[in-house]
Amino acid sequence: MWCQLFSEPGAGSDLAALGTGAVRDEASGDWIVNGQKVWTSSAHTARWAILIARTDPEQPKHRGITYFVCDMTDPGVEVRPLRQITGEAEFNEVFLTDVRIPDAHRLGAVGEGWKVAQTTLMNERVSIGGMRIPREGGMIGPVAKAWRERPELRTHDLHQRLMKLWVDAEVARLTGERLRQQLVAGQPGPEGSGMKLGFARLNQEISGLEVELLGEEGLLYDDWTMRRPEIVDFTGRDAGYRYLRSKGNSIEGGTSEVLLNIVAERVLGLPSEPRTDKDVAWKDLAR
Ligand SMILES: Cc1cc2nc3c(=O)[nH]c(=O)nc-3n(C[C@H](O)[C@H](O)[C@H](O)COP(=O)(O)OP(=O)(O)OC[C@H]3O[C@@H](n4cnc5c(N)ncnc54)[C@H](O)[C@@H]3O)c2cc1C
Repeated sequence: MWCQLFSEPGAGSDLAALGTGAVRDEASGDWIVNGQKVWTSSAHTARWAILIARTDPEQPKHRGITYFVCDMTDPGVEVRPLRQITGEAEFNEVFLTDVRIPDAHRLGAVGEGWKVAQTTLMNERVSIGGMRIPREGGMIGPVAKAWRERPELRTHDLHQRLMKLWVDAEVARLTGERLRQQLVAGQPGPEGSGMKLGFARLNQEISGLEVELLGEEGLLYDDWTMRRPEIVDFTGRDAGYRYLRSKGNSIEGGTSEVLLNIVAERVLGLPSEPRTDKDVAWKDLAR
């Protein structure tokens, strides 16, 4: 099991602003890491983590970052659960105190971590948004099943909306399939951001429709006790769970607003957002 130590309390969408520091111990060549990460999915079950940390605060924010593999059993790694809207704690905050990482666990050159992280993020968006599922897999499956099996729930309005969402879900599924075939040849591009955008919108619309279709039954919730699940599950359990869990889909792996910016700039070629801080040394940025 692996987890991703990227986001911090002060660095989410603006990930390059991150402040967790890694300083080289000249005697051993190891890196000593101090800082805090947050929203780390599965940190409580992970044996290893991918970690980005600042190795040169004198450089502008995108340039002084280095990418490491971190051993989650190091005594300096403390994992504390964060409870979600579903009641579960799928993610955590992670405190790093004098964590020692051998230089052999550095991925890419010193200061080049942003480029490595881009590869991770592009792949993450495809893996979240373009999972391989059969027809009627994912969120649309339980709604279509309820529709077929329980005619008493049907209304004309819901029928129109369900048909539209069914078609959207099938188009998204086939687009994901095509994207994965392109990926065999190389790196995912910004198309993965488009895929993940559609995935979040669809999941939220479909799970909303399911709750409407089921009426009061859709509001029932099976278990509010605090649990720390072993896996991340977007579609499991009952309609109430799916409705609540899908809210995070437009945040995790990059928010929908940020992904829209990526599609606008890198797919459509529209002018980029003003970025006044990109040439300023990280240590001089307001935080
Ligand atoms: C379920 C879940 C699992 C997660 N798992 C992990 C994990 O395993 N590892 C990890 O590192 N992180 C993880 N995250 C964190 C996730 O990547 C961040 O929450 C996300 O990048 C947003 O950062 P933020 O929460 O700091 O929000 P902020 O960046 O503070 O954003 C706040 C709001 O401002 C908007 N916004 C920000 N910048 C812009 C902009 N330039 N243009 C338009 N709107 C903007 C955002 O869209 C958002 O609505 C997870 C999050 C969730 C919900």
